[in-house]
Amino acid sequence: MDLSKLNPPQREAVVTTEGPLLVLAGAGSGKTRVITHRIVHLLDKRPNGLLARNILAVTFTNKAASEMKERLVHMAGPRAQNVLVCTFHAFGAEMLREDIYRLGWPKKFSIADQGDQAAIIKRAMRERRIDDREFDPRKVLGLISKAKNAGKTPEPLGEGLGDDYDLIAHMVYEAYQLSLKAQGSVDFDDLLILPSRLLREHEDLRRKYTSRFRYILVDEFQDTNQAQLDLLKLLASGETRNVCAVGDDDQCIYSWRGAEVRNILSYDKYFPGGKEVRLEQNYRSTQVVLDAANAVIAQNPERKAKQMWSERKGGQRIQVVSAPTEEDEARYVAQEISRLVAGGIPPDEIAVLYRVNGQAHPVEEALREKNLRYEVLSGSEFFDRREVKDVVAYFKLIANPRDETSLLRIINVPARGIGDVTMERLVAHARRDSVSLWGAMERSESYEDLPAGAATKVREFQRLVERYRESYEHGHLAQVTRQLLEEIGYKDDAKSLTSSQASAERKLASIDFVINSLETFEKREGPKASLLTYLNRLSLDTRQEEEEAPGGNKAITLMTIHASKGLEFRVVFFIGMEEELMPHKGMQGEAQNLEEERRLCYVGITRAKEALYLTRSAMRVKRGKEVPRTPSRFLDDIPPELVEVLDLDAPRKGPPTAQEQNFFANLKERFKAPQAGGGVAPRVPGGGEGPSGPVSSPPGTARAVR
Ligand code: ATP
Ligand code: MG
Repeated sequence: MDLSKLNPPQREAVVTTEGPLLVLAGAGSGKTRVITHRIVHLLDKRPNGLLARNILAVTFTNKAASEMKERLVHMAGPRAQNVLVCTFHAFGAEMLREDIYRLGWPKKFSIADQGDQAAIIKRAMRERRIDDREFDPRKVLGLISKAKNAGKTPEPLGEGLGDDYDLIAHMVYEAYQLSLKAQGSVDFDDLLILPSRLLREHEDLRRKYTSRFRYILVDEFQDTNQAQLDLLKLLASGETRNVCAVGDDDQCIYSWRGAEVRNILSYDKYFPGGKEVRLEQNYRSTQVVLDAANAVIAQNPERKAKQMWSERKGGQRIQVVSAPTEEDEARYVAQEISRLVAGGIPPDEIAVLYRVNGQAHPVEEALREKNLRYEVLSGSEFFDRREVKDVVAYFKLIANPRDETSLLRIINVPARGIGDVTMERLVAHARRDSVSLWGAMERSESYEDLPAGAATKVREFQRLVERYRESYEHGHLAQVTRQLLEEIGYKDDAKSLTSSQASAERKLASIDFVINSLETFEKREGPKASLLTYLNRLSLDTRQEEEEAPGGNKAITLMTIHASKGLEFRVVFFIGMEEELMPHKGMQGEAQNLEEERRLCYVGITRAKEALYLTRSAMRVKRGKEVPRTPSRFLDDIPPELVEVLDLDAPRKGPPTAQEQNFFANLKERFKAPQAGGGVAPRVPGGGEGPSGPVSSPPGTARAVR
């Protein structure tokens, strides 16, 4: 490999292959690049006969994993195929698939998603006579998850110093765990915790894994939690301790999900005797973007100070845009994007970032109006749709008959005459006889309180599921799914239950999307593709917020700042730069939370390579009322000489005013203007690399808003 494409500290990080290594550096300094180059270097050098399968690279999302894998194969050829690149959760799932039976789970375990978890916790609460309308089950789950990730069990005197929720979490924890296990399920946290248990309790497994993974590399290390650190320490507990972690303490943005910034700050304690490398040159952004990012993050106390510089001096100024309303803000963004795309910027080099998913809707609408293709990397919204959940529940039950949550979800969907009373009685029998619900159903005929007709229907359903279990074993997942849905009449049922044509179409489209995704999966995995591996993959993907919407690749990306980690775009629109959104209103109280919001702001800004827009609206409609909005405090930290301010203070309705027309005419003119080099420039013309000559703002439009 050509090491000349790295700067001296990057090179040092790449060639120091033995012993622990930490690369702590700011955004865009080439940390991820160090990881890929280090892997290629290892494949080239093959210390002690190293094979590709001896290398494990851990990324933060599945998407990042597949991109890294692609990159590796591109750089090192097919020999990189066997490097294991995945997230901690996917790694854990892989380990469990082989060895979970040693902990008493069935080999074909399933992964409970948030809906399944909620169903289980509700049941556990009800059993203890805790009202799930008074106490939010999700909050209880949150506390349980937090405790599990910290390697503990929920305490009655937890964080809230013994408020009701701590007590409830403590009370239902055991029932929750038992119920998961009885169903042959694990939750997401178990994907980290159970592998650690396997390694701790079984020496042969510890030997197997520590001798297999001789080099471990971890990206985004600042966002690892205690459970992940534990697993990593165990994996590195053999003879070789070649753990290379890269990260940036300023980009720790998942502490709400248990990330521990001290994992990176005290790296030397967990992996002693290693080396630390700092990278200071930023290759991603212009100096203007970098200066703005640095100015924002500098306000956080207790950080490891970093001196970042960029060779890309100058750059176009940051556009700080104030719009009267959310719709105007969205229209402005779409208008600008349309201009940039017309000017030659590829759509996939443009991103719209926001703090919360809900902010995407007006932008989506505005982009649609302009016929611009976009892709929303949203949360699990798609998988929350009822029809998708139903189909997935069929899959889960077919793969794992003990999955009671899925069974109860679809036993009578579409309606097949098996009522609630029948199921309640069967659940009671299952509990009394200490068998699974599926097991109790198999004995339906022998229960006296079950009418013969009901028992027959229950048994028929079981035979259907078993028949399909066999069909799926021969592959052709998509094909078999089509058959299954046809046989149970799911599509007709879904259609007849919806009131409007449009929503029926949407439902059918979602189902087709699931079938398509099965097809893609089969193509990718080849003969290895099974319903179970598909399901595991699916649960991991929805968790990581990144299943791609149907559509092609050349699209504008809309996503939350959380999801934008590690990515870069030539142009970034960071919308909703207002108090209550950025920083988010729930996060303004405690200093700690505010620091995390500031880090989020830093992450958002540092995604931009050339052009950055920070937009806000002066007013938003909340529950039918117009509420005035204050600009984000973070805007105040950006030195004024780096920004150009634009106030779209135009009437909201009616035809464009003279002022508006004038503004857009000017805008057009402006981008026809020839380029001149040097210095801090107002903005880049569509498609143009590098700085453009200073051009004054259209009269009457640029005004101080900060
Ligand atoms: P983040 O903190 O956002 O994850 P990072 O530190 O991982 O950023 P990379 O994504 O690895 O940074 O690199 C940022 C950009 O800089 C990439 O486009 C990368 O290809 C480029 N880059 C990094 N190092 C060099 C180098 N030595 N020469 C040229 N380009 C580089
Ligand atoms: Mg990175």
